[in-house]
Amino acid sequence: MSTLIVLGMQWGDEGKGKVVHYLSKQADYIVRYQGGNNAGHTLIFEDKPFVLHLIPSGILFPEKYCLIANGVVVDLESLKEEVNVLAKKKIVVKDRFFISEQAHIILPYHKIIDGILEDRSVKIGTTKKGIGPAYTDKVKRVGIRSIDYLERDVFEDLLEENLIEKAAILEGKIDISNLKKKMLEDYNEFSEFLRPFVANTSLMIEEAINGNKKILFESAQGTLLDLDFGTYPFVTSSNPIAGGVCSGAGVGPTKINSVLGVVKAYTTRVGEGPFAVELFDEVGDYLREKGGEYGATTGRPRRCGWFDSVGVRHSVRVNDIKHLILTKLDCMEDLDKIKICVAYKYKNKIYKEFPASRTIQKYAEPVYEEMPGFNGRVKDVMNFESLPINAQKYIKHLEELVGASIDLVSIGRKREEIIEINKDISWF
Ligand code: GDP
Repeated sequence: MSTLIVLGMQWGDEGKGKVVHYLSKQADYIVRYQGGNNAGHTLIFEDKPFVLHLIPSGILFPEKYCLIANGVVVDLESLKEEVNVLAKKKIVVKDRFFISEQAHIILPYHKIIDGILEDRSVKIGTTKKGIGPAYTDKVKRVGIRSIDYLERDVFEDLLEENLIEKAAILEGKIDISNLKKKMLEDYNEFSEFLRPFVANTSLMIEEAINGNKKILFESAQGTLLDLDFGTYPFVTSSNPIAGGVCSGAGVGPTKINSVLGVVKAYTTRVGEGPFAVELFDEVGDYLREKGGEYGATTGRPRRCGWFDSVGVRHSVRVNDIKHLILTKLDCMEDLDKIKICVAYKYKNKIYKEFPASRTIQKYAEPVYEEMPGFNGRVKDVMNFESLPINAQKYIKHLEELVGASIDLVSIGRKREEIIEINKDISWF
């Protein structure tokens, strides 16, 4: 049995897409277990950037199976578009891409409600793709799963119930009967598109494990956006943490072999919410430009800051991380000096553990340690010993601060631009 979870340690956008693409080559199955098409993995394929929002990036390898497990919410319109883009690149998904029977479907009213809520309540900074409202329906037990969608009678009954239940929020904003008419008109097109993909993915995973296949579970977003362990309420509506694989893919905890955390050499955050290490100066601008820190899904500029070891240590703990890949080290190579946040300070008290209090998260000041800049090229270096000595020291110091081993370092956008510090590790 060989199973690996790859997940984000910060607020998403750590470069998981590239890491999953790098490791997918060794896997037989690549499985998404949470989130929706709000994730955006940027990959470089045939030298061109290419964004996948829902389908695991392993789809680029023709012999791999890619699964969307039950913990994911699926927007059929966006999925159809993605399948078409892949088809144009001659990437065939038939018979190797499957969606769980129990995955919930994002319907047009979820997107409308997302827009209404984001405009009126505390802004969470969502992508307005209906993901939060679809998860809300799942918890309220009024959601429509892919298996429900395939049975027209069931779907029609549930649609009726949902539109009555949602009338209070939708009335005055849209014409509900028109919406219903349009959804019924579109039904055949979307259900026929969906039908060949729907499967019992939990069982498929079990059979794959029993058949000694290699399975990679890929998260979207990051641990600091986790519904339970992130900066609530500025979080995503699912659990990207390692434990999310058990409920999000229907896999028992003893079947998980290892977990690899993806962590950026500095920190970014997109959307609203507390961000103690945020930089408003030219260093922040430098990181944004050098790192191309603009949202893969929305194009929004990302907020940038120094490495936050308080947040990452928390992520190491809740995911029980032993191994890390440090990404985007090349994006820091021109800095004269580098800071690392080692604690938070609020009202003269020092916090070494990530605080749950909204007030402390919002108003805490970062306590920094300073290190000299790398003073040399990071890009194009292919082993640890050839990195500038200051870059080596930075990596070693981060390991001490967060309590996990940095075994891989990513130094560029391309799949092969990865330094294997620990060559003895077999990921599967
Ligand atoms: P994800 O959601 O975690 O996959 O992150 P994104 O794809 O949104 O953002 C990562 C961006 O950084 C993408 O444009 C990647 O091509 C790029 N990237 C990933 N790793 C590296 C790296 O080591 N160096 C540089 N310069 N870019 C990288």
